Formats: sequence, structure tokens, C-alpha cells
Amino acid sequence: MEVETQTRQDRLGCARCGQVRLGIIEQQRTFEVGFEAPLVVRVESTGCERCGRLAKPAAVARAAAMAALRVVAMSGRVNGESFRFLRATMGLQAKEVAHMLGLGVGTISRWENDVRDLDPRAWTLLACLALEYIDGDGDPRTKKVLDAVREPHAVPAQLEVRV
Ligand SMILES: [Zn+2]
Repeated sequence: MEVETQTRQDRLGCARCGQVRLGIIEQQRTFEVGFEAPLVVRVESTGCERCGRLAKPAAVARAAAMAALRVVAMSGRVNGESFRFLRATMGLQAKEVAHMLGLGVGTISRWENDVRDLDPRAWTLLACLALEYIDGDGDPRTKKVLDAVREPHAVPAQLEVRV
């Protein structure tokens, strides 16, 4: 499906300006992530060399955001802004994160605004969730562990293992 769309677009050229040949264009996205300076992500993608229209703007936006998310998740820069970036880039509401961590939503707000020192362990959990989110993980283990801590599962009396 994706391939067909791309081929068709190449044949028809730019939907905006009619330029026949598409090329590789570079875009720059800037994210406020709680580092000393904004994080700049350069993305190369198919687009119109004349007017700059991207063939797949949503994919470009997502790829840039995921690249930034990975860097932030692995950065160890524990602060309110990086916490907010991790949360918001995963599309999570503050109240969802609060519920996940068994905290009041006010606590999340105070952390994100640096009114209160945030718990590095909570930041770590969010970063692990972010890494699983980036990988589009069909097995989001961190989320499952958090859910299980809130509502423990039935456990088997014995296990069988083959080696
Ligand atoms: Zn164009």
C-alpha cells in the first residue's frame, strides 16, 4: 500500500506545485526537551525540491519525534521539562501518568514545572515506557509490570522449563 502510494506520487510529481521530479529534501525539527539547548533533529525524506512539500509529512514528524524521544529517554537528564517531553511525546495525559504511578495529578504538574524535585525512579519508568513506545513494542513490559503492581495477577504454583 505504502509502496504503491509512493510510486504513484513519484509519477504524478508534487501535489502542490506540479514539479515532476521529487527528490530527497532535508528538514530540521527543534524540540524543547530539558537539555541546555533545544534538540535539533535533521530528517532526510522524499519531497519536492522546488516547494519543499514532503511526500509523507506525518512519517517525517513521527521519525523526528521518535529520534528525539530516544535521546531523551537515554540521557539521564532528570528534570521537569524532560519528564514532560517524554510524557507528551507518547501522547499521555498527566492524569494517566499520575494514575500509572499511583500519584495525584498535582504531583506530576509540580514535577514538570520544577516546583518539586521529581522522583528519579518515576522518570526512569517513563523513559523505559518511551523506549518501548519507540520500538512499537508488541510486548510493552514496563507497562505490564506497572499494571500488575497495581493489580497483581494470579500466579502459577509451578512452572515448566525446557532447555
Ligand atoms: Zn512542489
